[in-house]
Amino acid sequence: MAQTSVLPPVLRESGQREVFCGLTSIVWLHRRMPDAFFLVVGSRTCAHLIQSAAGVMIFAEPRFGTAILGERDLAGLADANEELDRLVGDLLARRPEIRTLFLVGSCPSEVIKLDLAKAAERINTRMQGRVRVVNYSGSGIETTFTQGEDGALTSLVPLLPSNPEPQLLIVGTLADGVEERFLSLFARMGLETVRTLPPRQSTDLPPVGPGTRLLLAQPFVADTVRALERRGAQRIAAPYPLGVEGSCAWMAAAAAAFGIDPERVAAVLDPLAERGRRALEPLRRKLEGKRLFLLPDSQLEIPLARFLHRECGMELVEVGTPYLDRQLMAEELPLLPEGTQLSEGQDVEKQLERVRASRPDLVVCGMGLANPLEAEGFATKWSIELVFSPIHGCDQAADLAELFARPLNRRELLQWN
Ligand code: SF4
Repeated sequence: MAQTSVLPPVLRESGQREVFCGLTSIVWLHRRMPDAFFLVVGSRTCAHLIQSAAGVMIFAEPRFGTAILGERDLAGLADANEELDRLVGDLLARRPEIRTLFLVGSCPSEVIKLDLAKAAERINTRMQGRVRVVNYSGSGIETTFTQGEDGALTSLVPLLPSNPEPQLLIVGTLADGVEERFLSLFARMGLETVRTLPPRQSTDLPPVGPGTRLLLAQPFVADTVRALERRGAQRIAAPYPLGVEGSCAWMAAAAAAFGIDPERVAAVLDPLAERGRRALEPLRRKLEGKRLFLLPDSQLEIPLARFLHRECGMELVEVGTPYLDRQLMAEELPLLPEGTQLSEGQDVEKQLERVRASRPDLVVCGMGLANPLEAEGFATKWSIELVFSPIHGCDQAADLAELFARPLNRRELLQWN
């Protein structure tokens, strides 16, 4: 591929990491599928993490919770399986509206080797189809942040009905409004059979088969893609729908895969792209020439860096990603400017030394590092906002750029000497 000739070798690091575990993805997944419940089998630490991440949402009708492993479970004195079955039985009796129950593994459940796959099987048999129980791991040992969504979606793949008919399947959570917009744009191009994974109702699972073409809305769904490919689906090669350029290329790639007349596609996309670029102009003026350092967090870093460089004129100092899947990034990497330093994994102290030495204008990082870096004089952008905000599509390009311009604006406004 072209990128090997223009990008220096990827800096691979392992050491102390400052990232969320996969449990965090429950916070957006439970909103996407309101008929599902996420039961973490873990410790008080896990319960605390989710409550902190979900903030005020814990006071609404909760659709997630933690089965806390006590000392007796951890010491092997209690039959954790029996206790789990009893707890799930109580939960489902109290909440008959739950249609899909995700048993989510954590570090403690993995360390004591609690077999949640077996537990899911056992409970499924007992419930006789009234509720579907699946399991995946969100543990910090195995998963980083958005990889939790990948695990949840992979666990749903075996439940998808089979259908060989041609259809487009969008994979990865999109904000509801953004999803509706994409569906209406595809319909205008003549692409009618478009489904999404995850669906809005956990029981309304899309079918899959040899006619299914996958269009990835998010870059962190590698395992889900492989599971869908094993069921006959094929991935459409495209960059991710961030910014005007990425979104247009993403939609055009899907249309081309279904043989839609490029003129018809252009008639839909051109006015959108034109409007998107015009909306971006004032933000480009703000961001142009500013130096950007992205720390690893969500796997969105590479497509974001591509957008911020190509459409907003930012210079890239380092682009960190927790994992680099070259296959799923094959269309993104050649779009990065020559010489972009990529890093995979993290050794946080070393990375912070590089931040300090390079003095970037903006650092994109997790919440644990943001305030300390602000105190050292760096402008920062919390990366978690990027998974909670509607950022996909041409219409959102300016809003996406605005997320990065805001901390720079705020810094200017707060200068008092
Ligand atoms: S799963 Fe592991 S990393 Fe995540 S909150 Fe629980 S103990 Fe911590």
